[in-house]
Amino acid sequence: QAKSLGRNRVQVFNSNLEATTADTLKLENELYKALERNELRLFYQPQFDCRTGRIIGAEALLRWEHQGKLVPPLDFIPFAEETGLIVPIGAWVLREACRQAQVWRMDTGWPLRMAVNLSAVQLDQPDIADQVSAALKRSGLDPKALEVEITETVVVRESLRAADVLTQLRQLGVSVAIDDFGVGYSSFGYLRELPVDRFKLDRSFLQAIPHSAGDCRLAAALIAMAHRLEVGIVAEGVETAEQMAFLKTHQCDEAQGYHLGRPMPAEGFAEMLRHHVQAAALVATKD
Ligand code: C2E
Ligand code: MG
Ligand code: MG
Ligand code: MG
Repeated sequence: QAKSLGRNRVQVFNSNLEATTADTLKLENELYKALERNELRLFYQPQFDCRTGRIIGAEALLRWEHQGKLVPPLDFIPFAEETGLIVPIGAWVLREACRQAQVWRMDTGWPLRMAVNLSAVQLDQPDIADQVSAALKRSGLDPKALEVEITETVVVRESLRAADVLTQLRQLGVSVAIDDFGVGYSSFGYLRELPVDRFKLDRSFLQAIPHSAGDCRLAAALIAMAHRLEVGIVAEGVETAEQMAFLKTHQCDEAQGYHLGRPMPAEGFAEMLRHHVQAAALVATKD
């Protein structure tokens, strides 16, 4: 019966209380065990410099390998946030992403940046800056090579606390990106004050480009605004060559999306990075 209703998440919010309680407990137990059973995986999606076409960084994206299936983050992260499980899970993500970034940087010599998503619940931990600092120390990763992504709605909702934490993180040398930028109802006055390095333009802005003239103007204006505020800008969800051309024309700094590279397991990313580094070296010797 649960299966016929689709994913577990649906069951958790089902109005059928009996089924909900049982399924919630089951999922919770399974998720508790996910860490010790080593069922969590990080996928990595490349981020590119729009001007040079070079890889700048990777975003670590969490997956749960459960009973032979890869569960996407939106199917278990809300649940992990409700139960507080996101705290140990998030700590694992930080450690693993930092470890992996350091390995790749040492192996290739490429100045790769690693972006890690932080949830609101993690941001609420009084020792979050210490956790980040510990993950950096343990891995040996240069703090400048780590970026944390925080969703705009979270930053708006908890503005004072968020600004405080973001400042602490930046003092460590870590950079901060505002995720899903443009859909979180930031006030313009507040944006100016945010201690951030980058906006990640929500992919909804790109969807109708280049067909919708209005959306093109809006995206161009948001890119220009970031530049005037002296904040970097990354376009998320780049799915077509036309969208990429648009971003280049409007001097967007960085881009990420299926057109450029899908999220992939560590081995796949490592191989892609090796090829990229070799190609860049070839170009350099020709110059
Ligand atoms: P996000 O941080 O905004 O990540 C971008 C999402 O867009 C990813 O989905 C990625 O696979 C997807 N994406 C990338 N390029 C394209 C594209 O061209 N087209 C489309 N349609 N989608 C694209 P994913 O991996 O399912 O992650 C969903 C969300 O889950 C993330 O959104 C993030 O908010 C959250 N998440 C993922 N990993 C973590 C984590 O380790 N910790 C926390 N707290 N949240 C995470
Ligand atoms: Mg993100
Ligand atoms: Mg997000
Ligand atoms: Mg996003």
